Amino acid sequence: MKISIPKELAPLELRVALVPDSVARLVKQGHEVCVETGAGERASFTDAAYQAAGAQIVSDPAALFGESDLVLKVGAPLCGPGAARDEVSMLRPGSALIGFLEPLMRPDVAVLLAARSVTSFSMELVPRTTRAQNMDALSSMATVAGYKAALLGASTLPRFFPMLVTAAGTIPPAHVLVLGAGVAGLQAIATTRRLGAVVEGYDVRPAVKEEIESLGATFVELDLGAKDTQDAGGYAKELSGDTHQRELQLLAPVVARADLVITTARIPGVPAPMLITEEMVKGMKYGSVIVDLAADTGGNCALTRAGEVVVANGVTILGPVNIVAQLPIHASQMYSKNVLNFLGLLIKDGVMTLNFEDDILKGSCVTHGGKIVHQRTRERVEGATQPVGAGGK
Ligand code: NAD
Repeated sequence: MKISIPKELAPLELRVALVPDSVARLVKQGHEVCVETGAGERASFTDAAYQAAGAQIVSDPAALFGESDLVLKVGAPLCGPGAARDEVSMLRPGSALIGFLEPLMRPDVAVLLAARSVTSFSMELVPRTTRAQNMDALSSMATVAGYKAALLGASTLPRFFPMLVTAAGTIPPAHVLVLGAGVAGLQAIATTRRLGAVVEGYDVRPAVKEEIESLGATFVELDLGAKDTQDAGGYAKELSGDTHQRELQLLAPVVARADLVITTARIPGVPAPMLITEEMVKGMKYGSVIVDLAADTGGNCALTRAGEVVVANGVTILGPVNIVAQLPIHASQMYSKNVLNFLGLLIKDGVMTLNFEDDILKGSCVTHGGKIVHQRTRERVEGATQPVGAGGK
């Protein structure tokens, strides 16, 4: 098959879909791999490294997209007004596309891909099952995000993280609170612990208590009076109005004692839960910091602005967007490995063989045969539900 890797042109995107090691694997399997000039440069993978791995470097994007059987991307294909180029219309009808397509956020792109008869798969739709673990790009990126959020918090905080005993006196360790202990939150806890902070972790799912404690942090146990806070898939449920109010009340003193709060709370398909109100920010210490990883889905803090730094009452609130792209080497390497494993499902004996009986393949397919086959995306297109939040799990 002819497999292509374009350069990612979305603002702030530094990752590349396939790193040279993965290219070498595909070449060894007999595929022809084409890489757009400079595609990996911002992630420190040079054209020479791709050539050494057996790829051809292609400078003409129209040829790259138009002559491929399969295009591998990180983000959704660019299209529409203001886009650097129209990648959807460059794709060859009948070809396939893989990437974080965000179909629930961008159902318009799914409509265009279906109209172009492109078979598309979205990496964030890969089910979070044991069998799909090595293709779980969401978890890979959440690991990067949690790590980077901890570093961002540490470098923004106007104080040391670890306890220091110096001739100029003893400095107490920083006090970190992590709200939401999914993959990103647990990584943020692990990283802030490694940097020497005293860490507390909270999640609406009590099942994470053990994981938080195994990382050397304290689990913040709140009596919400609600029993079923998670669904059958292990994801958090949206709290009822009363329970949410109680959560805020109980969280207020916990937030007030932290020097750094890293928030990672999300609920699939709905806006991020509000966990820090403006009033709670007022109750925080002067000089404290909030890193809100849910900024792109509405934020966990009422004052967060996506992509901006807000200072209110002496509290600095960071709302980073696409934080994973700030660690482009390993983010690309992990994503590349996940994509390569996913290709193992799609390609048999050198050709694309789609078995829609397979739950991973079926669950992640957005468009096929000129139609939108992903039901929730189709419902969004038909206006049954409103697009909210990224991810689209
Ligand atoms: P996520 O990004 O969807 O959400 C982050 C965290 O926010 C979750 O832990 C969630 O419980 C929490 N949260 C939501 N509302 C909250 C609130 N009001 N207050 C406090 N916290 C709140 O989470 P994720 O990292 O994608 O993980 C979600 C689930 O998927 C977990 O159960 C995780 O164990 C599971 N998972 C399974 C696999 C696998 O089996 N292969 C892989 C990854 C994740």
